[in-house]
This record gives sequence, structure tokens and C-alpha cells, in this order.
Amino acid sequence: MLYRSTRGKCSNYSFEEAVMAGLASDGGLFIPQEFPKLPDNFLSEWKDKSFSELSFEIISLFVDPSEIPSADLKQIIEKSYSTFTDPDVTPLVQIDKEHDLWILELFHGPTFAFKDVALQFLGNLFEYILIRRNAARKSNDEPIHKLTVVGATSGDTGGAAIYGLRGKDNISVFILHPNNRVSPIQKAQMTTVPDKNIHNVAIDGTFDNCQDIVKALFGMEEFRNKHSLGAINSINWARILAQIVYYFHAYFQLVRAGHSDPKIVFFTPTGNFGDILAGYYAHRLGLPVEKLIVSTNANDILDRFFKTGRYEKGSHGVLETPSPAMDILISSNFERLLWYLAYESETTESDESLKVSEASNIVANWMENLKTHGCIEVKPETLAHSRKIFMSGATDDQKIYQTIKHYYDIESSETKTKYLLDPHTAVGVNIANSLKQTLSSDLGGKSFKSVCLSTAHPSKFVEAVNHSLADITPKFDHNTILPDQFVGILDREQRCTHLPNNNQAVIDFIETTLN
Ligand SMILES: *Cc1c(COP(=O)(O)O)cnc(C)c1O
Repeated sequence: MLYRSTRGKCSNYSFEEAVMAGLASDGGLFIPQEFPKLPDNFLSEWKDKSFSELSFEIISLFVDPSEIPSADLKQIIEKSYSTFTDPDVTPLVQIDKEHDLWILELFHGPTFAFKDVALQFLGNLFEYILIRRNAARKSNDEPIHKLTVVGATSGDTGGAAIYGLRGKDNISVFILHPNNRVSPIQKAQMTTVPDKNIHNVAIDGTFDNCQDIVKALFGMEEFRNKHSLGAINSINWARILAQIVYYFHAYFQLVRAGHSDPKIVFFTPTGNFGDILAGYYAHRLGLPVEKLIVSTNANDILDRFFKTGRYEKGSHGVLETPSPAMDILISSNFERLLWYLAYESETTESDESLKVSEASNIVANWMENLKTHGCIEVKPETLAHSRKIFMSGATDDQKIYQTIKHYYDIESSETKTKYLLDPHTAVGVNIANSLKQTLSSDLGGKSFKSVCLSTAHPSKFVEAVNHSLADITPKFDHNTILPDQFVGILDREQRCTHLPNNNQAVIDFIETTLN
């Protein structure tokens, strides 16, 4: 399997090259050059597979055994999911029988966020690639292959990346977060990790400032090559790939629970369009899915796109919401979907290779327009085409709080389970309940199961949860939901370097530390 850029200037990259580069050099994102075919009988064949076994089946469709031998890939995958505390890795639980509403819990990894599913895998993959490159050195005079991971985080990515890479030989990790703008638990999660290869940097500025510094460093070719910079942000293809698995896993868990041939609508809380894009790949591979619902908070650029066909930055900046991991202006992974939409609905060429380059040119133009005019618009047919599988919804802060309260401030009954949602998951659940009728008529009255992806454990977002439950009796005590790993974490020693919002300051810090 080879990979090409969505903007057409790079193609025939191997999996390893695409993963190590992160972003293509023409500024585009890597996509597979073909769609692999699932075995004809995969629905019966894969039904009883464990998460890791399923993961191997799916990931190996996109990674040739000549690149990573099957036995090695299996080992990387098993190691990655052995750190999850639930035997099902991503268990599915029903919380509302009346609405046939299910929660796909993706937060049983080391940092209690769904990002662990991808970053545990990516960390082990980086390690494997480096070990192999070093073993292939012809003599000890050749320099040792190293990797310097530099990333920005608004909270969850940093922790998950650090837990994916801590203690790994020849990998140094620098994570930039905005000073005083991540939650105390998130900060402690990142800065209490004692491993020598982990370096936290608090920048005087916003998340966007952090991201701009990281982008500037990646744009400096000499610096990038000298230190072999590696990217862990959600545009890395390996992250999307690892996430495809849990959509299949959800389907098979329903089948195993006795719901044969389940009709599923997935509700995915989304920011950078990574998590939901993985659902799109699952659907394209052949998983039976009725609809994928793009679920946003008040930062609703994606919801507006699926309603109007216009992808346009709002008139205001990023809005701060109770679900901070989804507070974005534009969604970096959306470019991948745009490529498929361009290819299938905007091109005029019929010759395959001409059609591919035409689609890439369309995407390159769109991205240029987005940069210069802050807006792009697809044809009405293209919007209609996307709506065959996608639908969208947006929700506001009040509804997030109300939804958390609704499912917690109840006694469990025949039809409902008392359940504490985190403020990101609550976005999906709120939209699931409000779109129930519309979807029902859209699907011709067919009954369906709503599966909401749960992207974080509620204990990570103390403020939003406390706010939602402020007036319940008996009074809600946050300590009762704290996982063991978080008990006392705020008192542990923190390691973090405080730097001004300045590229050179970060460059100097990285170079001094590496020396
Ligand atoms: C990162 C994150 C999201 C958004 O995921 P995308 O892949 O960017 O759509 C949602 N919820 C939580 C808790 C996250 O950490």
C-alpha cells in the first residue's frame, strides 16, 4: 500500500515514510492510494475477534507485510492495547433503552482520553522503526537514528503523546502547552511523568501560539532534518488508521450481544475531524453504517458545512466551551474528506490518473482559497453526495451541562442507567437525542441504534462536571469518580519549563536539552 498527498505533489510514499513525515512536503495530508478490500465473509469471520486481533486485521490492510512483517505488526498492536484497563479495550455500554442509546467508551487507556487508542500505537510504531533503522547500520561510525517529537497541545494530546513515548530509546519529546490554560489535572498528567526523554514547555500564550511555534519549527528544513523532527498531531495517518478499528469493534460487540445485523448511527464528538474521519474509512471499507453524525460544540464550522456546503471560518475567533478539546476554528483532517468529495463529485476526467490529479488540484485550490478568503464552497451535488453518509449537529454550552445532569441525576431504572458523561461525550449524546426524530424519518422509519463515542473520562473535566451537577442532592463529590491514578496527582512533583511566546526561545531550549 502506497500513500499520496491530498494536494498531488507527493505520491508513492511507503507507510513508514508517510508516518515519519506526518505532513506531506506540499502541505497536504497523506491518503492511501487504493481502497483495500475486506474478506468477503468478514462479518462472520471477524465477529469474535478481540480488539487487538481486529486491529491487526484492519491495520494490516494498509501496511504491506514487506514493510512490517505480520508477526512484528501483531506485537506492536498487542503491546499498544495491553496498557488499556478494560478487557474489551473499547467497551460498549447501553445507557438508555428508550432511545436505544449506547456509549462506546474510548477512555480506558493510560491518560483516560480516546487519543490513547492512536498514540499508544504510534509510540510503539516510532520505537519499532527506530530500532530497525539502527539495527541496519553498517558500522558503529554511522550516526544513531533518533527522533525528536515536537507537538502542541490544548490538553489531551500532550498527555496521550507523553504516555505513548515515555522511556523510549532515542526518542525525545517536547510538548508545548499554553501556560495556565490547560486544566490542573491535564497539566499534572503531563508534567509528573519522571522519564528523562519527556520535556514539557509552558508557553506564555494561547494554544494557537503553541501550534504556530511548532509549525514554524517544522517549516525550518535545516532544523527539522538535523533533529529528525517527528509529528504526533492528529493529521498523522497512523492515528486515523488505529481509530478505524473501534467502529468495527462497536458493531461486533452489538452482534455478540445478540443484536444481529444491527443498524447503527454513530455520533462522534469532533474537533479536528480525526475521530469521525476514521468512521468514514470504516464505512468506505464496508462496515454497515446507516449514518455518521458530525457532532460539534459552539465551534460549529463542520456543522455549517454539512448544512450549506460552505466551509467558512466564523466571524468570531475560537469560542471557549466546556468541551475544550473540540474548540477549533478549522479542522485539520477535513482536507482528507474534501479529497474524496472532490474525486467523486467535482472531477470531470474519466481516466483514473488524470482524475486523481484533477481532484488533488481542486483540493490544493480549495486550501489556498481557505487561506486567503477564509471560505470555500462545494457544488450542491457534492454536498448532497456527502450527506448520503454524513449528517451533523451542533450544541451549546447549556445543553452540554443539561445532558450531563440528565443522565447523572436519575435513579437507574428498566430503561435508563445512571451514567456520568464527560462534556465532550455529552455533545454527541445531546445531538443523538435531538436528532432522533429527523433521523428516523430520514432512514425511512427503520429503527436504529445510536452509538455515541465517548472521548474522555469525566474526571478529566472537573469544572464542567461540577458546574453541571451544582444543584443536585445529595451534593456531588468529584473525588468519588477519581480513578486511582489521579488520586494525589496534583501534589506530585512537576517538571516543566516556562518560556516566552517566541520561536527562538523554544529552538534554544530544544538544542540545549538535546546536547
Ligand atoms: C481530541 C479530542 C476530541 C476531538 O477529536 P478529533 O479527532 O479532533 O475530532 C474530542 N474529545 C476529546 C476529549 C478529545 O481529547
